[in-house]
Amino acid sequence: MQITRSKILFEKAKNYIPGGVNSPVRAFRAVGGDPIFIKKADGAFIYDEDDNAYIELINSWGPMILGHNNPMIKEAVIKAMENGTSFGAPTAREIEIAELITQMVPSVEKIRMVNSGTEATMSAIRVARGFTGKDKFIKMEGHYHGHGDSFLISAGSGAITMGAPDSPGVTKGTAKDTLLAPYNDLVAIENLVTANKNEIAALILEPVPGNMGLVLPKEGYLEGLRKICDKEGIVLIFDEVMTGFRLAKGGAQELFGVTPDMTTLGKIIGGGLPVGAYGGKKEIMEHVSPSGPVYQAGTLSGNPIAMAAGLTMLQYLNSHPETYLQLNEIGDKLTTGINQSLSKLGLKYTLNHLGSMYSLFFTDKEIFDFASAKQSDTVLFGKYFQAMLKRGIYLAPSQFESLFLSTSLTDELIAKVLQANEESLMEIHS
Ligand SMILES: *Cc1c(COP(=O)(O)O)cnc(C)c1O
Repeated sequence: MQITRSKILFEKAKNYIPGGVNSPVRAFRAVGGDPIFIKKADGAFIYDEDDNAYIELINSWGPMILGHNNPMIKEAVIKAMENGTSFGAPTAREIEIAELITQMVPSVEKIRMVNSGTEATMSAIRVARGFTGKDKFIKMEGHYHGHGDSFLISAGSGAITMGAPDSPGVTKGTAKDTLLAPYNDLVAIENLVTANKNEIAALILEPVPGNMGLVLPKEGYLEGLRKICDKEGIVLIFDEVMTGFRLAKGGAQELFGVTPDMTTLGKIIGGGLPVGAYGGKKEIMEHVSPSGPVYQAGTLSGNPIAMAAGLTMLQYLNSHPETYLQLNEIGDKLTTGINQSLSKLGLKYTLNHLGSMYSLFFTDKEIFDFASAKQSDTVLFGKYFQAMLKRGIYLAPSQFESLFLSTSLTDELIAKVLQANEESLMEIHS
């Protein structure tokens, strides 16, 4: 076997960094082999340290919706850098981005910027608890809300991939306030609410979960959650870190027409820099310090460079609504082509798709929750992943992730992906 630079770097990285990576999803544990180390990225491509080019279908796990190295964002960052990198004091740009977000996502009347999706969800739960004076909250099995203690219970994304949806280090005391329900099951929610009458502060979910692979809400499900939360005085939180600014300019809540009380955002909001945010109804957000008693802070929150990147990204998306038609078209072309290959080869795998997100599950069963997602053949997925990688297509290295398409996928590149897909499916079944 040829010794690649990626291999050498990975061996070295393991001496200093746990598992050689700064986030577990980057390891190739679930698909076999070693991760490739990336040197640079541009448009639809990433390039590894051995100068191999790959067509990108994850896009940094979502943020790079316009493709890599976007010239507008690059220019905004460089311009902002000239005035210093951090002040720890308020800036005009923070008002601009806050105002824009409240226009794009109208349920967000007030917003607080943080540095990651993890911070956004942790803070949102704290605020919901402070607002209601209650301790418990409901989370869905297989949904991922970052790595805050109280969310690492039946968690999706890297946690499922590594076989540890319940993390050691989370105390029983913390875990007891997290109530679990299967996604897409309103009766389960009714039962939890009855069993914990007047004790539930919030219900948090990914309205369209992408962290157990992509799963779609059943007709009436999100509306049903809204009704239960209204009736019981529970704060409904949509974690749109993944779906925000992706499924529509106003996220899943715009697409499905269901309005949460609070929303958490991340990924696209930073244009590729580390940004998260949480917001919602004025009366709830007024509980956040210093206007209210619920404490939440951040040395680098609202960082001028990160705000410049995020603002440029959001301004573009807001003023170019056709971007979403283009993304939908790219998603339709790609998934139609994959379905054609599946039927041509007589394979009955389940392809879940919405807009610019999709997951190919290696099972013929319908995937509508965590239990059904886990029926997928992850060994077969690993072979498919490697077959695609060999052909220059970079997928998420886990069955339990959604793919995220960018506007930089041209028809020509889509054709390449589809050819690699058909060849890979044939290879893993030969
Ligand atoms: C990625 C993600 C998070 C965590 O965001 P980080 O920036 O990685 O901390 C939270 N919720 C959802 C739905 C996500 O997809």
